[in-house]
Amino acid sequence: MPDIAVYPGSFDPITNGHLDLLQRALKIFDHIIVAVAWNPTKQCLFTIEERMEMIRVSLQDHPQVSIDTFTGLLVDYAREKKARAILRGLRAVTDFEYEFQLAMMNRRLEPEIETVFLMTGLRWVFLSSSILKEAAVHGGNIEGMVPEIVYHKLREKFGLNKG
Ligand code: ADP
Repeated sequence: MPDIAVYPGSFDPITNGHLDLLQRALKIFDHIIVAVAWNPTKQCLFTIEERMEMIRVSLQDHPQVSIDTFTGLLVDYAREKKARAILRGLRAVTDFEYEFQLAMMNRRLEPEIETVFLMTGLRWVFLSSSILKEAAVHGGNIEGMVPEIVYHKLREKFGLNKG
């Protein structure tokens, strides 16, 4: 049985921080499913199709990674995929409280699936999709923080490519 992990998130959009975490996790798991959350109540900048497409292009050289979308309870989805673990990233301590609650709830709902936390590379400790969008909307240079496709899509979204 391959060791499968589900890496859930909004990925609105995927950043180099997410990719860093995935690279680390690939040393531990045989297969990782990047699971984009479909949450109609959460307002996202990119549609689910756009988010998945950016992930697909960014990860095209990684056959051990697949991309999917899910709705409803994460543990139900993980069980259905025969995943042994849920992968989450930790940046600063500020992530801890929410992630801790989430992991405890998921453990209560499904004791067989462990949440595994990995620490991101130092370069990405301050990087989040929301901070990134905040910078990009005001024309800040986000080069080097995101895969190339995301760089272009963000500029396009915020109308920064015109003349
Ligand atoms: P969510 O809405 O579930 O928080 P995100 O796409 O923001 O979705 O994050 C998904 C996961 O990726 C979370 O576990 C988050 O901690 C992690 N993550 C986000 N940014 C980074 C980063 N810069 N480095 C490492 N992990 C990150």
